[in-house]
Formats: sequence, C-alpha cells, structure tokens
Amino acid sequence: MKCARPKLKGWKEIPEGGTIVEPGSSIQFDVSAWRVSRPVIDQAKCTKCGLCWIYCPDSAIEFKDGKYEPNMLYCKGCGICQKACAPKAIIMFKEGKK
Ligand code: SF4
Ligand code: SF4
Repeated sequence: MKCARPKLKGWKEIPEGGTIVEPGSSIQFDVSAWRVSRPVIDQAKCTKCGLCWIYCPDSAIEFKDGKYEPNMLYCKGCGICQKACAPKAIIMFKEGKK
C-alpha cells in the first residue's frame, strides 16, 4: 500500500491548541522516515499468538494471508512488538541493514 505524504499545514491553518478535528487522520501519514530500526518477523518461529498485533501502539501490525506482518508505512520502530514476542520471532534490524 502506498500513501502519499500530505502537504503540511501552515501555522495559520492548524486548529487552536493543535487539536485533531478529523478522525482517522493518522492513516494518511507515512511515518517510515521516523524509524531507525525495523521489525522483521521470522514466520517459521511465529506461533500466530497475535501479541505483537495487540501491543503495537501504532496498530502497524497487520494480519494478512494467515501471517502477521508490520506495515512499514506506520511502524515507528519502537521495538515493543519484539518485547511482546515470547518465541523471539521478531528481530529488530537497523534501517538499511536488511
Ligand atoms: S508476537 Fe511473535 S509469535 Fe506472536 S504473532 Fe507476533 S511475531 Fe508471531
Ligand atoms: S516496532 Fe513498534 S511501531 Fe513497529 S510494528 Fe513493532 S510495536 Fe509497532
């Protein structure tokens, strides 16, 4: 899935107090440039427990075609999914290394 980087609003266009007035706006933002490391799931070790999906604070883990996979547009690389994964199926790699 590709999502375009929206044009940032100028300070005069931002609502007072920086309030978010449009629900679901986070889905429009590609935050991949924020990340310094990325989770990679070893599907052979994954038990499909879904804990990474539950714990990801950005709802970046998706369940598709019988597999859990992080959506790299929304993953910020925090590593919480790795900590939640008991069988150690998730490895964090530095960006650009794999
Ligand atoms: S927490 Fe680990 S074992 Fe569980 S679904 Fe996620 S990757 Fe698979
Ligand atoms: S590294 Fe953080 S943001 Fe990325 S999938 Fe794991 S828990 Fe979610």
